[in-house]
Amino acid sequence: MKLSEMYCLSGTYNKSIIIETLKMDFINCEDHIQHDESWTLYSSLHNKAVCLGCIVETIEKRELLPLQRKPALSEFLRILTQQSAELLQLFMKEQRIVWHIVTIILESLSLEEDSYLALLVNVLLKMVQLIGSEDLVTAILDAVVKQVETTIDHNQLQPHYTLLGKMLYQLPALADTLLKHYGRYRIFPY
Ligand SMILES: [Zn+2]
Repeated sequence: MKLSEMYCLSGTYNKSIIIETLKMDFINCEDHIQHDESWTLYSSLHNKAVCLGCIVETIEKRELLPLQRKPALSEFLRILTQQSAELLQLFMKEQRIVWHIVTIILESLSLEEDSYLALLVNVLLKMVQLIGSEDLVTAILDAVVKQVETTIDHNQLQPHYTLLGKMLYQLPALADTLLKHYGRYRIFPY
């Protein structure tokens, strides 16, 4: 079902259809009732509506193992890739969601599950690419540098180095920023 089909002919949102559709979704969480209707997006993979709020809440649930969170994160990456225009519109309207998701991802980089970590890095890179905000890039760099400075065992920082390396590849101009503003830090272990 396409998102447009969830609207009545009068143009009003057909809430019952949306709620019924969301009930079928495995990433629908118990707090869905509190989520704004505008966070609902169509999933071509699952052929039903999915809620960005439920996806985010699933990703940040500490009691879930990385593998249990992975379907929600994969879905988010799919939406980032295939419905970038709708998602960007939503992000621009509610920037707090962007910061919330970025914070969750950065905090999750210490989780020990390689495929989940790779997915986290890819999601963050896609968000950087989609949003194109210098503030966002600076905030990520600040967080990564802070983590590097406060972590004794550099083996735990592999996801952070991967993220930095891929960000440099995606944004070559970032190398100058790194040297100019973070040159005094020992960012890389070699
Ligand atoms: Zn929801």
